[in-house]
Amino acid sequence: MIIEKIETYILKDTLSKSFFFSQWEYSERCICVVKVTTSDGHYGWGEGYGPASVLEAGINFLKPIVLNKNPLENEVIWSEMYRKTLDFARRGILVASMSAIDIALWDLKGKILNLPVSLLLGGVYRKKIKPYATGLYFSDRNNPSKDFDEEAANYVSQGFKAIKMKVGLGVDLDFKHVKRMREVIGDDIQLMVDSNHAYSLSEAIALAKKIEPFNISWFEEPISPEYYEQYNELRNKTTIPISGGECEYLRFGFHQLLKNKSVDIIQPDICASGGLTEAKRIAALASTYGVDVIPHTWGTSIGIHVALHFISNLELMPGRMMVPDFLIEYDQTENVLRDKLTFPSLVMKDGMIEVPTGPGLGMDVNEDILKKYSISRSL
Ligand code: MG
Repeated sequence: MIIEKIETYILKDTLSKSFFFSQWEYSERCICVVKVTTSDGHYGWGEGYGPASVLEAGINFLKPIVLNKNPLENEVIWSEMYRKTLDFARRGILVASMSAIDIALWDLKGKILNLPVSLLLGGVYRKKIKPYATGLYFSDRNNPSKDFDEEAANYVSQGFKAIKMKVGLGVDLDFKHVKRMREVIGDDIQLMVDSNHAYSLSEAIALAKKIEPFNISWFEEPISPEYYEQYNELRNKTTIPISGGECEYLRFGFHQLLKNKSVDIIQPDICASGGLTEAKRIAALASTYGVDVIPHTWGTSIGIHVALHFISNLELMPGRMMVPDFLIEYDQTENVLRDKLTFPSLVMKDGMIEVPTGPGLGMDVNEDILKKYSISRSL
């Protein structure tokens, strides 16, 4: 059995209503997914995080390295993709293209062996993961938080126990928004803030000090991801845990965040930072620094499945009897590709999502949805 075919699909959906965050406005979803098929007809799905057309070009570049290989030797394949791109791609989109292929190979391996990816990773520490709602983006330039009250109340009524809101519009306006959100959701729901690296160090310190009274679980990407030492300075000046890493790549990139003591929580995007193969190494490295891992997710339901399997296998450090719930990012903005691309659907029950138990990632792609939203397909 060898890898015989690698297909990419670019899926696109125009949103019914655009929204914005500290950096730019979103008006569409455009995501590259990949299907890897073997000579005996088994297949696996993967997804990359980043600009879809560039991801597709990267996957096309990597194809000759992966074709005709034994799909069970996914780590060996990872290593060859890494070696042959190392001179020009230690960060960025080509690593995300590698990630998409790596994820498809894990799904494929699980389907060949009839085992869930969580078991292939080493076993399931927890069968249910606690989703946190990523939302509270800005809807109106003149009144950015216009829909916040209603949206937050909706998350609470759905059973979410943790909510992440956007900040990054200016310290005073952010403070007003965070204060209001704490009032709306009450004291029992976890609240996190994410500025998407909008701030200088002094601004980030000012905001952190102002919102400390609101029991913020973490302040995500307060500063631009290059400033590892400034992250450390911020950490020393606030009681709010600091998180980051959704723009970081490979264990070597995460080592920069860790050795500089930049963050309390790292947030690798498994679809960008090197796939499941590298995510497991990144988690091992983080555990040597006593730093928690809560992956970033954004794209289709393939990526959510990947994160569920990965989190189910994260070791609790330090170990103890009373184990806290582990969190998964669960974006709640409009995204048909998260809601409909795969089946069976993920269901949140009592504020938790069960880790799928079927072979591979425990899902398959709905071909009708794939066709409907495909704007290009390459073989
Ligand atoms: Mg973020």
